[in-house]
Amino acid sequence: MTGGQPVDGSISVPQIARQVEAEGIALLVVVSDEPEKYQGHEDQFPRGTTFHHRSELDDVQRRLRELSGVTVLIYDQTCAAEKRRRRKKGEFPDPDNRLFINEAVCEGCGDCGVQSNCLSVEPVETELGRKRRIDQSSCNKDYSCVNGFCPSFVTLEGATLRRAEGHAFDPAELARRVEALSIPHTHLDQAPYDILVTGVGGTGVGRSAR
Ligand code: SF4
Repeated sequence: MTGGQPVDGSISVPQIARQVEAEGIALLVVVSDEPEKYQGHEDQFPRGTTFHHRSELDDVQRRLRELSGVTVLIYDQTCAAEKRRRRKKGEFPDPDNRLFINEAVCEGCGDCGVQSNCLSVEPVETELGRKRRIDQSSCNKDYSCVNGFCPSFVTLEGATLRRAEGHAFDPAELARRVEALSIPHTHLDQAPYDILVTGVGGTGVGRSAR
């Protein structure tokens, strides 16, 4: 979960585990989207290390906070932004399914967002109220939004995204559009003020300024 920045040398999860063990910890846990890959390799980790699926993350954190001493949680999963980058280059498995939400069936309960905690599940305003849709350009295909077994979900096999058509650049048209832009309202005359910019993983930044 580094955001995809290159790392000098190789730092494997067992190596990180051994390093923090050497520094003195009360307990180490490993949480991953693929915890099964550690089966049979437990001897590479400090004695007492436990391995959990990411769906248990919240419970694991709550258990750790009750323990005294330094506890370490290693979260092992490829960064979502990095996955998309590698898929574009054909360097990462690219599942052949895409999920869509049928807005005619969706009741807007929001459970898909709760299940996945995913920013690609977006609100969409309809005449029947707020529903949900999946932003296909940012979806990283981990499919956790279907965990609630909602009937609104449609799985398309072999579907690909339609590419936007390009338009010839027209400087006169650009100038006309810039001219038509209204001046945005700012709070610069009312300082101090708060700004919160949200983001996720390597694609964004969380920052609060005053
Ligand atoms: S798609 Fe299903 S889970 Fe998501 S908001 Fe709509 S009804 Fe709820």
